Amino acid sequence: MEQMSAASRKPPKVCYRCGLVVTTKTREHVVPRCLYPDEPAANLLTVPACRDCNNAFARDEEYFRLFLTAHWIPSPAARTVWEQKVRPSFERGWDGLRKLAVADMRDFYLPSGTGFVRTGLLKGDAARMDRVAEKIVRALYYHVTDKVMPPEAKMNFHWRPPAWAPDTARRGGLITVDPAIFLCRYIIGSRGSVERSAWWMLFYESLMYVVTAEAPARLTGDERAEGRVVECA
Ligand SMILES: [Zn+2]
Repeated sequence: MEQMSAASRKPPKVCYRCGLVVTTKTREHVVPRCLYPDEPAANLLTVPACRDCNNAFARDEEYFRLFLTAHWIPSPAARTVWEQKVRPSFERGWDGLRKLAVADMRDFYLPSGTGFVRTGLLKGDAARMDRVAEKIVRALYYHVTDKVMPPEAKMNFHWRPPAWAPDTARRGGLITVDPAIFLCRYIIGSRGSVERSAWWMLFYESLMYVVTAEAPARLTGDERAEGRVVECA
């Protein structure tokens, strides 16, 4: 009984991304599940999600995984994921991959270890990478603050970390699930009615993705949920 009354006092669960009240048990992996090997070592971090938001990124996440694991970075976890999941997904074997590799590419530099590696990115697909990064940042933000980042938040994406990033990151909060796959340092601060945050994400111990976000005064999950349609189970 006590448990039930405690539960009933809790505010309703809302989707980490759109703020819709979630009545189902649907949860989204903060770090895409597909980036982990078949048997992940850790309990994976999840946040509540509505069905639409939960299903919205599957294809983009697969591309994100392809892009991260196709680089010969010295990460046993990335190699495992490549061998277990990515390589078998090319039904026509290596020919399919070769065709993909000579498609419309642009030069692209990825931070790796202490330097940069030159690589290619399919033109137009930087947007897909950024969509996944935005999704991860929104989920991290929800995990840290228990609040939904306003949809109108402006984000900037940097593969080449800005000069301030390493120094700032050292002072930030730390989120890590399995450091072989992902860890993140972050800072959140507000001035007046604007809230700024920076998220320094490290994938497979080598690949950095820095995202900054600027949002108007944030709304709580409760406020966002007011007047919204409740999703039915
Ligand atoms: Zn949603």
